[in-house]
Amino acid sequence: PDAVNRIAAGEVIERPAAVIKELVENSLDAGATRIEIDIRDGGKASMSVTDNGCGMDEASMLLAIERHATSKLAPSDAGDYDLTNIATMGFRGEALPSIGAVARLDILSRPEGLNAAKLSVHGGKLDGPAPAAFAGHGTRIEVRDLFYATPARLKFLKTDRAETMAISEVLKKLAMARHDVGFALSSNGRKMFDYKAEPDTREGALARQAAVMGRDFGDNALALDTTREDVRLTGFAGLPTFNRGLPDKQFLFVNGRPVKDRLIIGAIRGAYADFLARDRHPAVTLFLDMPPSQVDVNVHPAKTEVRFRDAGMVRGLIVSALRHALAEAGH
Ligand code: ADP
Ligand code: MG
Repeated sequence: PDAVNRIAAGEVIERPAAVIKELVENSLDAGATRIEIDIRDGGKASMSVTDNGCGMDEASMLLAIERHATSKLAPSDAGDYDLTNIATMGFRGEALPSIGAVARLDILSRPEGLNAAKLSVHGGKLDGPAPAAFAGHGTRIEVRDLFYATPARLKFLKTDRAETMAISEVLKKLAMARHDVGFALSSNGRKMFDYKAEPDTREGALARQAAVMGRDFGDNALALDTTREDVRLTGFAGLPTFNRGLPDKQFLFVNGRPVKDRLIIGAIRGAYADFLARDRHPAVTLFLDMPPSQVDVNVHPAKTEVRFRDAGMVRGLIVSALRHALAEAGH
C-alpha cells in the first residue's frame, strides 16, 4: 500500500520541463541511443521528443495512455509494487495519461519490423491508432497547447525564456547521466545543443561533461573513482582554479538518476573549503552507485530526493575522495 501511495502521490505535470523529463526518460527506457527534442515558445506552444528506441505497436500505444498501465513494473502476487529494485526511469504508468489530460498529445511510433501508427488524444478523445509514416524505428511524441483547457495553470508558467532554461537544465542533467546517448535540443527552430553519443568509457563520460559544463572543464577536472563497502563513487571534480563553478554547478546522480541533496552539496563545499575561497563554488559531478537497498529514491516528477541508509558513510566517502584528489593534484 505504501508503494501504491507513493505511486499515486504528486502526479502533477506542472510545467513544460516536467513533460520533457517524462518523455525523455521514456525514450531512455525504450533503449534509444539518440533523442531529439524540439520546443516552441518555452514548450508552451509545442514540444516534441523523437527517439530511435524500441517503439510501440498499436496495442501498446493504447495501453500507454491508460492510467497505471506500465510495461515496466509488474505488481507482485500480493498486488503490491516492488519499488526497491527499479531498473527503469519510469514505473508509474502515469506520465502519458497525465500529459494527455492537460494537452493535445500525438503518439507516432514504429517498432522494428512493423508499420508505423499514430494515436492522438485531444481533450480526452482518442483518434487512432491509424497507419502513419516513420523513418527507421522509434517513437515521436508531440505535446501541443499545454494547459489549453486550464488557463489557471497556464498563468503560473514563467516566461518562454525561463521555461526554455528549465527544459535545458533537465536535459543537461539527463545528458550527463547518459553520455552513451545523443541528445539534441532546438528551440523555435534554433539549435541549443547537440551532444553526440560518447563511448561508454571514462573518456566518453568526461567528453560529455565537457560538452555540458563548457569545453575547458575537460582540462580542469580530476577524475574520481573510489569504492567503499558496496558504494561506488565516480565523477569529476573541477580544479579550484576552474572558475566556472556556479552555485548550481554541483551535479549528483544516484544510480543514474539526477537527484538533489543538501547534505551532499554541503559535503562537496566542505571538501573544497581548504582549497577554494569562501565565495567560490566548485564545479563537481558525482555519480554514486549502490544497491537499491542502500538508498530510498523518492521519485517525484518535479524534484528527486534521496535518503541514504548510511548518510554518514556516503558523506565521508565523498569528502575523502574529493580531498584526496585535490591534494594529489597539488592543491
Ligand atoms: P511509465 O514510464 O511509468 O511506464 P508512461 O506513462 O511514461 O509510464 O509510459 C507508459 C508506457 O508507454 C510505457 O510503459 C511504455 O511501454 C510506453 N512508452 C512511452 N514512451 C515510449 C517510448 N518513447 N518508446 C517506447 N515505449 C514508450
Ligand atoms: Mg515514463
